Amino acid sequence: MRRAVVIGCGALGSAVASQLVREGVGTVRIVDRDVVELRNLAHQALYTEADAASRLLKAEAAAVHLRAMNADCRVESVVADFVPGNALRLTADADLLVDGADNLETKLLLNDVAVATGTPLVYAGCAGTEGSVLAVLPGVTHCLRCLWPTPSESVNHMTCETRGVLPSTAATVAALQATEALKLLLGTEADALSGLLRIDVWNAVLRRVPLPAFPTDDRACPTCGTRDFGYLRGEYSTMARQLCGDDTVLLTTSSPARDLERLRRHHIANASLRVRPEYVQVDIDGCRIVAFASGRTLIHGAGGMNRARALYARYVTG
Ligand SMILES: [Zn+2]
Repeated sequence: MRRAVVIGCGALGSAVASQLVREGVGTVRIVDRDVVELRNLAHQALYTEADAASRLLKAEAAAVHLRAMNADCRVESVVADFVPGNALRLTADADLLVDGADNLETKLLLNDVAVATGTPLVYAGCAGTEGSVLAVLPGVTHCLRCLWPTPSESVNHMTCETRGVLPSTAATVAALQATEALKLLLGTEADALSGLLRIDVWNAVLRRVPLPAFPTDDRACPTCGTRDFGYLRGEYSTMARQLCGDDTVLLTTSSPARDLERLRRHHIANASLRVRPEYVQVDIDGCRIVAFASGRTLIHGAGGMNRARALYARYVTG
């Protein structure tokens, strides 16, 4: 039985997960840390207005919809922030990794996991009316850092952190990503993979980007050349940033256990409080705060970075 693990269940992840479930893949595990928001519905086809009104966690809402599509497929829902500390555990039994992440840091962490463990990965990114897809068969085809040894502007443009995404772009990129995923799950020969695809939906252009033979030079790629897994070691992290066009801010702390306990203790009388081993969630001042054991906290609905920082200081680290 084949198991696909989808990291991130937004525009791309939710669309690819739907296709894998409908195609009858044995197990589809979805990992996501985020909450469904009304503004997601334009391009995240799996969710409904009811999910957004209830501020359901995407991993849980997605699992309900996916299970209703195919009872023979086992759907596993994991509410977690995918970080170096849990990346290997959450993907340990995967036959395929699917990149549904909305930020470059997570994509490169996933690339490290793929190459370190020899697990195939399908990367995809989209922004505006453009996108890209790459199937990675570790040791056989190029990985993300073969193409982009250092994070560059071109890669940054392929996430939707700074640009919105046209719904038809997400749908087109997800369809191509799901096709590469199916090839990898079926064990299709590497030369049947499409390589690096660039998609321009507005101008209806789909092209394969010519790549040098693999491997180009063992030292050229820090990941599959010298096997330096800096993202997996957690050497790169982000302190605070606005997520993907949403009214959501991500913050990072160095003392997660203490913060989770503080949040739990201070809001014990709040009926919305939800305590799980992986996270603590509570609704305060019109916002939803989700603090993860990984050390990251999401604040939804704060109306901007400054108020999110203030709420974080007051309720999480204060
Ligand atoms: Zn590489």
